[in-house]
Amino acid sequence: MQDKIVIVGAGVAGVNAATKLVDNGYPGDKITIIDMGKSPYERKPEEVMTGFLGAGGWSDGKLTYHTAIGGQLAKYCGEEKAMELMDQVIENFKRFHPKPEAVQCSDPQEEPEFIKPYFGLRLFPVWHVGTDYLHEIGKNWYQYLVDGGVEFIWETKVHAIDFVNQRVLAKYLTKENHELEERYDRLIFGVGKSGIDFGKALAEEYKLPTEPKSVQIGVRFEAPQKHFQKLIDVSYDFKLYRKYEDKGVSLRSFCTNNNAAYVATEVTYGDHTYNGHAKKDEAYRNNMTNFGILMEINGIEDPFKWSRDAVKKLQKDGVGTYFSPNHNRLPSKTSEGTYIQCNIVDSIQPLYDAIGDYALYIEEFIEDMKKVFPTLENDWGIYMPEVKYLSPEPLVDYTNLALTKYPNVHFVGDALSARGITVSGAQGIYVAEDLLKY
Ligand SMILES: Cc1cc2nc3c(=O)[nH]c(=O)nc-3n(C[C@H](O)[C@H](O)[C@H](O)COP(=O)(O)OP(=O)(O)OC[C@H]3O[C@@H](n4cnc5c(N)ncnc54)[C@H](O)[C@@H]3O)c2cc1C
Repeated sequence: MQDKIVIVGAGVAGVNAATKLVDNGYPGDKITIIDMGKSPYERKPEEVMTGFLGAGGWSDGKLTYHTAIGGQLAKYCGEEKAMELMDQVIENFKRFHPKPEAVQCSDPQEEPEFIKPYFGLRLFPVWHVGTDYLHEIGKNWYQYLVDGGVEFIWETKVHAIDFVNQRVLAKYLTKENHELEERYDRLIFGVGKSGIDFGKALAEEYKLPTEPKSVQIGVRFEAPQKHFQKLIDVSYDFKLYRKYEDKGVSLRSFCTNNNAAYVATEVTYGDHTYNGHAKKDEAYRNNMTNFGILMEINGIEDPFKWSRDAVKKLQKDGVGTYFSPNHNRLPSKTSEGTYIQCNIVDSIQPLYDAIGDYALYIEEFIEDMKKVFPTLENDWGIYMPEVKYLSPEPLVDYTNLALTKYPNVHFVGDALSARGITVSGAQGIYVAEDLLKY
């Protein structure tokens, strides 16, 4: 008799886990996936975070291929295994791609001389799938799992999990007062960023031991692409970084988008923060570049609360903040053609008010970019804040990502320690491989 597996979250991690199981003959009718979003046939473009493939389904589709990027993976399974798991994720995206030959890898090799005096540059391979194709990939992938017998329960929000009696409790979002109860033998918890508060609440409720975390906060920087072209020619998704070892602070440019680059608003805990994505279709070309300037700050006592307080200070009338030293540069439009919602401010002071003198590091980063890219001058703007909430990461058994307190509950993806598609998917597969042993 096979274990009943319930997967909470049809995101990248959950879907890759289910795929590994079905690929290896695990009976689909023993797998149930519950998600508060919609199937790939019904999901709307503005539903950025929820539904089939989760935040990954509407993302830029950049599959990073290195263990130093995208959160923790090698920590659990070692370098070699981590790369092999990432290969499997990339293969899955190709396999359900309507044009697999369009998936291409950029693999920059050498740090250019003009960068060296000011920044380190992290170079690593990235596979590009393209946002536009993700919708089609989603449909093909979903169909494969449905044909394999997997049960999907859509538009249903899990609000409680009873780890002791192995029950998941959820509410149908479309039917008032309709409750769902699912029993499980094994649970895979992959709620991503949109479910981060839920993961945190469970950790508190069950007093799960956690790993120490850092603060990850900064801004989304936007400028015309022409200023960065000489670096983009070397590395599409460049990662500039620098470290202030003695201060416990490091900064990196994060998730660079070019050509058809759009800033995206993320809503977490009801607050607006910013991210970005790029379209592959030429029709969307706007010749802009955007990337996060993300700061990692170690040693802050309650990093989660600190980050949330900082984010709150940058909200006014329910939206975030925008600053450009050039009064003619205004917030851009989204790929749907509406202006990005934000309050325009005439100085960078609100950033100081929110994160104190840490803002100085961001200002310095921008000042040095102006030296490396001399045409940039004041032709840029920043959306504030960009944040990665590293919620308390529950302590797991490194061999199968199961909670040390509840060994039949596995945490995966952004709900654990991942920060990207490849690592999240790889964690899902890693857990599935363990389940297949039984
Ligand atoms: C705009 C944007 C662009 C991005 N671009 C990239 C990129 O190019 N490359 C990259 O590597 N990463 C990118 N990311 C990050 C990447 O998408 C995530 O790291 C990845 O999707 C995490 O996978 P996951 O499975 O952990 O969670 P997700 O993919 O976020 O999936 C979580 C799922 O859980 C569901 N859920 C949450 N709470 C509940 C609940 N209580 N009940 C039921 N269901 C629930 C959600 O509906 C969602 O479908 C981007 C993110 C965003 C927002």
